Amino acid sequence: ERDRLARLRHRPAVSLDGQRIELLANIELPTDAPAALEAGAEGVGLFRSEFLFMNRGGRLPDEDEQHAAYAAAVTTMRGLPVTIRTIDIGADKPLDRMTLSELRHEHSLNPAMGLRAIRWSLADPGMFTVQLRAILRAAALGPVRLLVPMISHPGEIRATFEAIERARAQLRREQLPCGDVKIGAMIEVPAAALMLPLFLRHFDFVSLGTNDLIQYTLAIDRADESVAHLYDPWHPAVLGLVSTTIRAARAAGREVCVCGEMAGDMEFTELLLALGLRSFSMHPSQLPGIKQRILRTEIPALEALADQVLTSDDPRAAWLAGRARTVQPA
Ligand code: PEP
Ligand code: MG
Repeated sequence: ERDRLARLRHRPAVSLDGQRIELLANIELPTDAPAALEAGAEGVGLFRSEFLFMNRGGRLPDEDEQHAAYAAAVTTMRGLPVTIRTIDIGADKPLDRMTLSELRHEHSLNPAMGLRAIRWSLADPGMFTVQLRAILRAAALGPVRLLVPMISHPGEIRATFEAIERARAQLRREQLPCGDVKIGAMIEVPAAALMLPLFLRHFDFVSLGTNDLIQYTLAIDRADESVAHLYDPWHPAVLGLVSTTIRAARAAGREVCVCGEMAGDMEFTELLLALGLRSFSMHPSQLPGIKQRILRTEIPALEALADQVLTSDDPRAAWLAGRARTVQPA
């Protein structure tokens, strides 16, 4: 079994019809990067940087400490791309104690819709600049991509690019090394998916955060047990947004990845391939299984099913029935 996994690690993910699929890893700390390599990841598709800030009893990592963490991930990945998401704090990931947190988060009745992620960063420009500087400095050491969480308003796009430019200008003035970064947006609020062309004009790539996209599309709090049974990745509205995002990004020649749980769930691998997805980012432990699934998939045979699944009132049943007719039993 271990031999089989080791062989699988060095084998590229290619579908039966010869299409190359990119498999990336989600990490929370730089110490997760070796496991990503071990699993055969071709890069980090999502570094959830907020984990550097959590459970610290209020003392936040300064620029040098953040830089060291980002640099560690970049050097561990040895030239493979590392996608660093700016802090996604708030809602299900509270900072334990912090001025803004005390001021606003703890008084928010509805933290998932409150000051979270990029909203938080733009509300605290000092903290945001420190993080952007640390990321841009790490980009001098290897390929870094910067990913913006929960961005959903055109004004936030403008403000984010201005903040990045300000941080870069500071580093230049101080003659500190900084690298070029590709800049991407998480598509995880329906508003972003619904105005995707606007995002595609500004960003180099997009990454679908299906965990939050499901939460916000269906108005289901992902942390609320009482509605967990309604949290449904197969919901036609969710599949519709995922599908239009993948298609529009590809049509515009922009890279598109899924980094939410759907990417690491084998139940969705073939469907996502059929919808046109060619880049998946997931927990390293899920990667070998997903790769195996891809190696056995004949994508063109499944593509024809996508449209009927998207218009069905029971997409899961439609998919399973169509798939049973299409895929020859092994
Ligand atoms: C998501 O929302 O799908 C995602 C990848 O981000 P997180 O789970 O960290 O909110
Ligand atoms: Mg999210």
